[in-house]
Amino acid sequence: MALKKQLSVISYQLSVLAFVALCFLFLIARTDAANSTNVRVRLSGEKDEVRLAVKGAYTIEAIDSDLILKKGANLSEEKVIPAGSGIQLGEEIFKIYGIRVIPKKDAGISVDGKQFRGIIDIIRTENMKLLVVNHIDVEKYLYGVLYHEVPHYWPMETQKAQAVAARTFAMYRKTIMRDKDYDVTSDIYSQVYGGKGSEHGRARKAVDLTKGEVLIFDGKILPSYYHSICAGHTEDASRVFEVDLPPLKGVKCPYCKGARGMNWKASFSYKQMEERLNAYGIKVNGMRDITEGPRDKSGRLETVIIKDAEGIKEIQGFKFRLALGPNMIRSANFTLNITPRGVIFKGKGWGHGVGMCQWGAFGMAKKRARYKKILEFYYPEAKINEINGL
Ligand SMILES: [Zn+2]
Repeated sequence: MALKKQLSVISYQLSVLAFVALCFLFLIARTDAANSTNVRVRLSGEKDEVRLAVKGAYTIEAIDSDLILKKGANLSEEKVIPAGSGIQLGEEIFKIYGIRVIPKKDAGISVDGKQFRGIIDIIRTENMKLLVVNHIDVEKYLYGVLYHEVPHYWPMETQKAQAVAARTFAMYRKTIMRDKDYDVTSDIYSQVYGGKGSEHGRARKAVDLTKGEVLIFDGKILPSYYHSICAGHTEDASRVFEVDLPPLKGVKCPYCKGARGMNWKASFSYKQMEERLNAYGIKVNGMRDITEGPRDKSGRLETVIIKDAEGIKEIQGFKFRLALGPNMIRSANFTLNITPRGVIFKGKGWGHGVGMCQWGAFGMAKKRARYKKILEFYYPEAKINEINGL
């Protein structure tokens, strides 16, 4: 009886221990996920080859295994190319789908002549191309983003507002891209990122001064879109993205008046427009006429109406802009002037118009607004929180 009791006590103690251990493991896993501030940045489109070099000690591993392929104190430039069922690194071919380059301490990795912090993955795609993904802590990532997003000589409060918006946006992308190979791209479709070579002291300072700060709404990370110039009123996110939230309904913005690049002009022939629309996936056949559809409260065109050989087609304003080229048709706020040779577009503003207006943030800082006021203005009802507190 005593033995049985003893055994049951031991078994009880063991199960308590197991339970505590399980809780601990669970806690570690959870904390790890919550604290994960690494961002995966896709550095380019698919490539035929990548030039890789490392200044300093490094290890190259196979992705998803512990297999070490190569290590050393320095790697002079080598070509990486897709090869048969694997990847060729220099003279050697490895039967793997991707390599991971891990620098030691401050060793810098160079990809096609550009310097990057953090880890670099080079992945072979199904169609025998290469994808380069930079794994980097969000703060270091922002060092390479801010300089491209706002001029480094702009007021520090604008830089800080931009740092918070860009950090928030990167963390939001992480939540929606979990099943993909990357969270953000390095171009205008996410946030322009140039790696170590595009950092600037003032941009780094703005990132450091706002370290870990992100915008949240209703307990969740905010899709903190931003753009260059709103031209008087920011856009309701639900018109452009699949997002409908109170902080992104659009506000009247008097602060970007006089911004450089406010007014723009572009011209297209009917043939050019038709080609671009079709290439974008909007079917147009024998275009005959184009007219402005209704405008929303921000002044942007809700639709553009096209008449072709098949009839009348209504195209959403923001889609029309993307199809013709977002750097030619800089915003969906434009008028049409029909000429014998085609159409002249006259417009104002630059970008999709959702969230913070960067030139407006510049204008507000010039009027002595602090960065929290700027964020409050462009993202009303959103709150600032620490990443780790989420
Ligand atoms: Zn504005």
